[in-house]
Amino acid sequence: MMSPEENIAAASRLCTTCGMCCDGTMFQIVRMQPGDSPAELGKLGLKVRCREGEFFMEQPCSALKGMKCTVYEKRPTRCRLFHCQQLIRVESGDAPEAEAMAMIVETRELVEQVRSLIEQCGLREDGQSLQERFERVMSTPINATLEPEMAAVRENLEVTMRKLKLQLNREFRPPPGTP
Ligand code: SF4
Ligand code: SF4
Repeated sequence: MMSPEENIAAASRLCTTCGMCCDGTMFQIVRMQPGDSPAELGKLGLKVRCREGEFFMEQPCSALKGMKCTVYEKRPTRCRLFHCQQLIRVESGDAPEAEAMAMIVETRELVEQVRSLIEQCGLREDGQSLQERFERVMSTPINATLEPEMAAVRENLEVTMRKLKLQLNREFRPPPGTP
């Protein structure tokens, strides 16, 4: 078991290599909680929106710069509470930091593959979440007979995205019911 100081240092090293819970890889939105001030968070530049009386912010988060949260001290409640499985395992001493780091690097490689395949399908980086961009590509009709190479890229994208989602569910997302 690590000391609290070692926990903080390890979490910082992991998160500043990763960023996947902020950059639109894992989530599309972050819901505001009681105690959060949508107005104040909006003034900080976060993409705060309201739908049917519920406030949330869109991801990729505009406060993430170079893998660091630039509003760390004022970040929303959900951001404060969120610890992915990798972080929890390292903090509790269930896994060494190097193992978590290797999983982050491996998963980020999958993310880069998905991004590259989306670009090969003709959709440039547009500031939307990975899932939204994936859905936009996959919902655009193509003729597989006339465009066999594009059909092959799409198939590769679908397989790689499925692999990424499974890995995120198995290795990063907290079990259902966790705050
Ligand atoms: S997914 Fe985990 S390791 Fe990655 S930035 Fe979020 S909390 Fe940190
Ligand atoms: S406010 Fe900070 S912690 Fe929350 S999603 Fe944005 S970059 Fe991540």
